[in-house]
Amino acid sequence: MSELKLFNSLTRQLETFTPVHAGEARVYTCGPTVYNYPHIGNMRAYVFADTLGRVLSYKGYKLTHVINITDVGHLTDDADAGEDKMEKMAAEKAQSIWDIARHYTEAYWEDIKALNIRQPAHWSIATDYVPAMIDYAQSIADKHCYELESGLYFDTSTVAHYGALARAKTEEGEGRIEEVDGKRHAADFAIWRKTPAGETRQMEWDSPWGKGAPGWHLECSVMSEALLGLPFDIHTGGIDHREIHHPNEIAQNQARCGSDHSGARFWMHNNFLIERSGKMSKSSGEFLRVQLLIDKGFHPLAYRLMCLQAHYRSELEFSWEGLQAAFVRLKRMVMGVTNLKARHAETQTSEADTWTLKQVQGDVAQVIMASINDFNAAIVDDLNTAIAITAMETIIGLKKVDVAQQLAAIADMDAVLGLNLMSLTRADLRVRPKAATITEAEIETALTARKEARAAKDFAKSDAIRDDLIAKGVEVMDGDPLGWDWKLDI
Ligand code: AMP
Ligand code: ZN
Repeated sequence: MSELKLFNSLTRQLETFTPVHAGEARVYTCGPTVYNYPHIGNMRAYVFADTLGRVLSYKGYKLTHVINITDVGHLTDDADAGEDKMEKMAAEKAQSIWDIARHYTEAYWEDIKALNIRQPAHWSIATDYVPAMIDYAQSIADKHCYELESGLYFDTSTVAHYGALARAKTEEGEGRIEEVDGKRHAADFAIWRKTPAGETRQMEWDSPWGKGAPGWHLECSVMSEALLGLPFDIHTGGIDHREIHHPNEIAQNQARCGSDHSGARFWMHNNFLIERSGKMSKSSGEFLRVQLLIDKGFHPLAYRLMCLQAHYRSELEFSWEGLQAAFVRLKRMVMGVTNLKARHAETQTSEADTWTLKQVQGDVAQVIMASINDFNAAIVDDLNTAIAITAMETIIGLKKVDVAQQLAAIADMDAVLGLNLMSLTRADLRVRPKAATITEAEIETALTARKEARAAKDFAKSDAIRDDLIAKGVEVMDGDPLGWDWKLDI
């Protein structure tokens, strides 16, 4: 198989992936700040990281993936401005930060499951690592930090090429960095924030710099080093992290290692999911979350497919129409695979989820091989999932080839795309909208009555039943084995 090429934000170039440790791939992904529900834009970052992990596994690397949970230290601005997001939400809700963190971490994990994102080797929780963060800060403090009344600050002039990852900073970028009294350079950042005199925070720890809490950037440097060792292979995050958070992690890693090395061979960033009305933003009441899609009758994997239809480095504009198109496409794939499984079952008895091309006996048909080659060429080209999906669809649509080979090839490809095609059924995709006013039993009763009316040639009655069902958001599908489906309200 050909080499895996990935776009490295450090060099702004495609580079061949070669692992730090032979046969292994160690990946760190900046996780959510658990002060609120993640929106679907946030989840795009994890679909991307998961797909990257699946590609690395597919290419035969032993994957160690770490995703952290930020439950302390992330301020309302990525630089040193504003309040701690967790403290702010806890105050607003009059709840303990620990309860807030637990609730939203669990909500995030539900979304992870719904989007068929594989469990990483470690979910590292920031508050579990505070003693390690203090040790780490102490190890770099003398040479690279200075203390102010508000905390311990990293002096960005003490490392080479500070901010190289972000490239030339725009004026707007500079403007986002808060001027803290006494900071030596605008880009310097807090690695430890002291609790102001006379105040008590819900989350604070003793440190050589007084009571306080770690800075957000410190957390990721400490947890990635602790769980993956430096240097590791790939660090991922959303494109916004390329500007402040990751340059700051890199500065800390350089200080820690006493070298110019950034700490990871590749820094990879997904572009944003955007929404014109701005409803995705967590600060504006109802926002787009995975549960909202489900409530409206979409299967969450339709959203995964929507993400994969775009390249991870392109901006993706969310629209309900776009999501609906992805949903229809997913339904067609599931129906295609279901038909193949049925055809295969007529002759064989093997289990559906044991498919893999490695088990296929004999030569793989040339037409299948051609699409497998297209698929491979696409995914090693910086994860071109859009093309990879079409290669898989081509195989689903082949008519005159060995069905076992077809299914095995699809299973291997789906292990990369994560659409769960080998086990999803068309009925699984019939997601009951939250606003539905009719029960499934009532629908079945109405359909039976309609069948009887039709048998009696009472077409006025059968049409009336169908119209009534449509009014209740149910689409009758004559000739389809499923019989009916929910109409999407978009
Ligand atoms: P946060 O919980 O704010 O730290 O964000 C979690 C992840 O989502 C980070 O990797 C962000 O870069 C990423 N992210 C935030 N907004 C979007 C968006 N609209 N589209 C894609 N990724 C995003
Ligand atoms: Zn991070």
